[in-house]
Amino acid sequence: MLKIVDLHVEAGGREILKGVNLTVNEGEFHVIMGPNGSGKSTLALTLAGHPNYKVTKGGIFFEDKEITNLTPDERAKMGILLAFQVPPEIQGVRIIDFLTQTLSEIKNLDASEAYNIIIEKAKELWFREDDLRRYINVGFSGGERKRLELLQALLLEPKLLILDEPDSGVDVDSLSVISRKIEELHKKGVSIILITHYGRIFGHIDKEKLKVNIMRDGKIVMRGGSELISMIEEKGFKAIFGGDNDE
Ligand code: ADP
Ligand code: MG
Ligand code: MG
Repeated sequence: MLKIVDLHVEAGGREILKGVNLTVNEGEFHVIMGPNGSGKSTLALTLAGHPNYKVTKGGIFFEDKEITNLTPDERAKMGILLAFQVPPEIQGVRIIDFLTQTLSEIKNLDASEAYNIIIEKAKELWFREDDLRRYINVGFSGGERKRLELLQALLLEPKLLILDEPDSGVDVDSLSVISRKIEELHKKGVSIILITHYGRIFGHIDKEKLKVNIMRDGKIVMRGGSELISMIEEKGFKAIFGGDNDE
């Protein structure tokens, strides 16, 4: 489904990804872990087509089509969704208006159909109709931001969902609902790439199925199953890389 081949990416005048190879087959659940600065978010943003990240070598293929040079919009229409690590605050744009517009555009629904679907789904993530009239992420808590990202994913039901640290800055209760919703999406057939530092996000997720990829210095340097997550949680990356890397 997704094939990343020898991907080299530059941002701010220097090379950040230095030859990433990753294949995600339909229905797979991939996890990416790695120390701060190893290039995880760069990979996610590059997959989404963020204009600051320039592919200098290699390519990205989705369902046998090369997407390396497609716009974020074109990728979204193909079914790739990135839930942002730190979603921007958008003063003056109400959640409900934003979601209604995106949903009706991507799924070809009229606005009132889209509206009703949004209100229903929002309840599953603890949002009331009132909450949806707030401006996007303005004054939101960490948990609210992440639940809003998940709501977007639940509504759009992408083919491939990329989650960049959905567990950062989130309280225990939100974490639990986020974990459950990710598992729900995966069970519906959504392929997932989840970037995280912590095993706690997998509370409601069957760990046996996880394909874990470890990044270091712009490359994937190790692949395995959930045993890698436990190992990193217990002993840090030095258990894997050796030496005195404390991250
Ligand atoms: P991670 O998500 O693994 O913590 P990032 O992908 O955010 O890592 O960053 C990897 C490296 O690339 C860091 O050194 C970071 O400062 C740098 N970097 C990321 N984005 C940019 C950018 N737009 N311009 C310049 N440097 C960047
Ligand atoms: Mg980071
Ligand atoms: Mg990051």
